[in-house]
Amino acid sequence: MKTKTKAIHSAYQSKDAYGALAMPVYHTDAYEFENAEIMADAFCSRVPLPDYSRVTNPTVIYFEKKVRELTGAENVYALSSGMAAISNSLLSLCESGANIVTSNHLFGNTWLLLSKTFARYGIEARFCDLCDLEAVKAAIDDRTVCIYAEIISNPLQEVVDLQALAHLAHSLGKKLVADTTMIPFTRFSAKSLGVDLELVSSTKYISGGASTIGGLVIDYSCGKEFAARMQEILLNFGAYMTPHVAYMQTLGLENLEARYSLESANTMELAERLRTIPAIRYVNYTGLKDNPFHDIACRQFNDTYGAMICIELESPKACFDFLNRLKLVKRATNLFDNRTLAIHPASTIFGNFTSQQLRDLDVSETCIRLSIGLEDMDDVFEDIRQALEINI
Ligand SMILES: *Cc1c(COP(=O)(O)O)cnc(C)c1O
Repeated sequence: MKTKTKAIHSAYQSKDAYGALAMPVYHTDAYEFENAEIMADAFCSRVPLPDYSRVTNPTVIYFEKKVRELTGAENVYALSSGMAAISNSLLSLCESGANIVTSNHLFGNTWLLLSKTFARYGIEARFCDLCDLEAVKAAIDDRTVCIYAEIISNPLQEVVDLQALAHLAHSLGKKLVADTTMIPFTRFSAKSLGVDLELVSSTKYISGGASTIGGLVIDYSCGKEFAARMQEILLNFGAYMTPHVAYMQTLGLENLEARYSLESANTMELAERLRTIPAIRYVNYTGLKDNPFHDIACRQFNDTYGAMICIELESPKACFDFLNRLKLVKRATNLFDNRTLAIHPASTIFGNFTSQQLRDLDVSETCIRLSIGLEDMDDVFEDIRQALEINI
């Protein structure tokens, strides 16, 4: 089956008693067993039966199965947030004394997790320029476990060369871990680019309608030891996805392709139109042909560029004025909602960062991040234009 068909038609793990078309939501925390022998087998994973919903639930398993079929992964784990997917999987890979080679251009919470939280437990993050392979190589030593990259950084929109990083990592016996939240995994194959472990905030494209928070750990080649560690971490940290979220996100996954096609086309159209507004100093979108990362994004992601645009305005005050004048576009965080959203990252997501940290992370104080929705772009463009051109 092709991707679009697979997203819709995944068989249930076992036949539903009533032939329900939508996956039933198993709102249960525990399961009854026919006898003590089967019960023992279930608890010791000798038979694939759910025992307790902190680690296994039929609705969540179905969502994980759909993702496995769509990505060709060995194992998929659904967790309660993107951050849970990132923290739990990295804790499964690393132990005290290990280090992770990564970039300063990371999602704000990931940067804090690596630089602050993990540091307290003896896991070191080494920040370098992931676009400079020599710098990456120099940062790696025998305690390095993985290279950790975001495929399109946020809000800078830097695109790393996954094949080159995978080649370097594998030549030194390390793993490549990639946060691919910015482009749906139905549009490009992280596996074929050499990614060992793919992490996704399913809060974004998959949830779609701003309905639920979730995260995915998609394992292509981390092996049995990782699977056992991940199972242990899931049991002991308790961040497994809940059945209701899995149900909502299964629906999101089924219509992801339809939404993404429209959102990405809308984003391309809007990016071009925004260039005609004089108050916007720079439109950052890798879909634009003169963007410095256009060629690599085109090659890696099969000519699709996501649905996030960053615009540079004249000053922080101009950013606040713009946000305050918006009528249709929502002032909100989140990405890839059905609605178009706008945020000033420097004063919000990075609002509590020190000025040194902001410099280290290259967070611009004049940047507005837009996440483009499903609306008619005539209306979104008109709202942005009126919010910017009021002084002209
Ligand atoms: C949102 C996001 C996360 C965190 O995901 P949550 O679901 O909010 O925990 C991680 N990485 C990227 C790139 C994100 O956009």
